[in-house]
Amino acid sequence: MSRPVPLTDNSPNNAWIEVSEQLQKELPRQSFLTWFKPLKPLAFNGSVLTLIVPSRFYYDWIEGHYRKVLQKAVSKVLGSGARIDYSIDQIDNGHSKVSSITENNKTEGADNNSNRFETHLNQRNQFYNFVEGDCNRFAKAASFALAESPGMTPYNPLMIYGGSGLGKTHLIQAIGNYIVGRKSANRVLYVTSEQFTTSFIEAIKKGKADSFSRLYRSVDVLLLDDVQFFMAKEKTQEEFFHTFNYLHHAGKQLVFSSDRPPRDLEGFDERLVSRLQWGLITELLKPEYETRLAILKHRSEEENVNLPDEVADFLALHITDNVRTLQSALIHLFAQSSLMNRDISINLAKNIVNKLVKRPVTRVSIERIQEITSEELDISCDILLSKSRKKDVVFARQIAMLLCTEFTKSTLKAIGLQFGGRDHATVIHARETINEKIKTDQKISHTVQKLRQRIELASL
Ligand code: ADP
Ligand code: MG
Repeated sequence: MSRPVPLTDNSPNNAWIEVSEQLQKELPRQSFLTWFKPLKPLAFNGSVLTLIVPSRFYYDWIEGHYRKVLQKAVSKVLGSGARIDYSIDQIDNGHSKVSSITENNKTEGADNNSNRFETHLNQRNQFYNFVEGDCNRFAKAASFALAESPGMTPYNPLMIYGGSGLGKTHLIQAIGNYIVGRKSANRVLYVTSEQFTTSFIEAIKKGKADSFSRLYRSVDVLLLDDVQFFMAKEKTQEEFFHTFNYLHHAGKQLVFSSDRPPRDLEGFDERLVSRLQWGLITELLKPEYETRLAILKHRSEEENVNLPDEVADFLALHITDNVRTLQSALIHLFAQSSLMNRDISINLAKNIVNKLVKRPVTRVSIERIQEITSEELDISCDILLSKSRKKDVVFARQIAMLLCTEFTKSTLKAIGLQFGGRDHATVIHARETINEKIKTDQKISHTVQKLRQRIELASL
């Protein structure tokens, strides 16, 4: 297909202006401004338009969220064979240096080819960039031990389970990348259960079920992500059951992830559930405060962006649900600060946190918050609501008040009333006092964070 709108001028600038205009028609204004405005055209050779992205984050974000719409715009404006290439703008000692992402990816691809087998692994998921903490230490250690001697440990299969965004895919791919990186002869295959299911159905349709089975039985290490997807898919489960038996019998390594423990997998064949429990089952927990902080620091260092301590602390305190949200907060923060040419500050972070974090409201009562606080701080509820002015009592009361403003929809007046008939100004004062203390006193910020987690659990 030839180019529908002939470009009058083949300069990179012109090509990018035209693609930008097309993109603006397709995207919400804010998305365009945040993600595409900061890009700069570097080169255009008639079919490949190379763009400079401010950081690796940008690249990942654009590829992850806008790949299709961008490709559509490019095809429309520059012709159907045209595509985008990226280079990262790296600031080293104040000097800007551009390095091509695509070149890096090519070498990565070549590595995979030398393994003569398509692993479907994303090279970014490695052990060395998987930040360790109490929440994942055991799972990581088991994964690493297994990666050092696949098929030779008692961890066969290894089953890693945990909520969304807690690092399951990262960890099981790190296993694969580690094994491949050692240039062993092992054939490693990563597949999501969804892909497994789809290709199984396709294979059956095309009468190629045999070659499907053969492919999966030819691997040394099978990494199967999100097994919960097999729920109620009997035929696929059966096929997988046989694959499992075959590989396990042959001493091959199996690794699974799931969003829940095997015993909770509903609509699963009992025999399969029992197989999944043969080896080691390990859970990824929500990252605790220290790990959240470490992840934020790690990612900003990787990105070469200076993240002030108080902003890192603010994010780590407020974003508690998972690593994915934590990272997307960071990406938004970097993007907005570079777009608006503003320093990364708590104020900027606040906006982003407000957008990303939905606090559960109305599901937990003031009384319940009082109970939890009194338990955690070891001060009886009666005393908490009494007239006592003792320091530790006032402190506990103020914390409980703050939490009530965060977790309930009650008015300040109603909250005050339920704290032994105090007025709304007392609640406001409590909220301000504790929020101030959180910023400077790590112990207090810890306590509050722990309470938030308990209340969140109580409100589920
Ligand atoms: P899941 O598969 O459990 O939904 P992912 O493995 O996709 O979660 O993780 C979500 C994001 O968080 C990914 O970008 C991943 O690299 C990152 N991530 C998760 N845990 C960690 C960790 N401990 N250290 C560094 N990055 C992490
Ligand atoms: Mg995943």
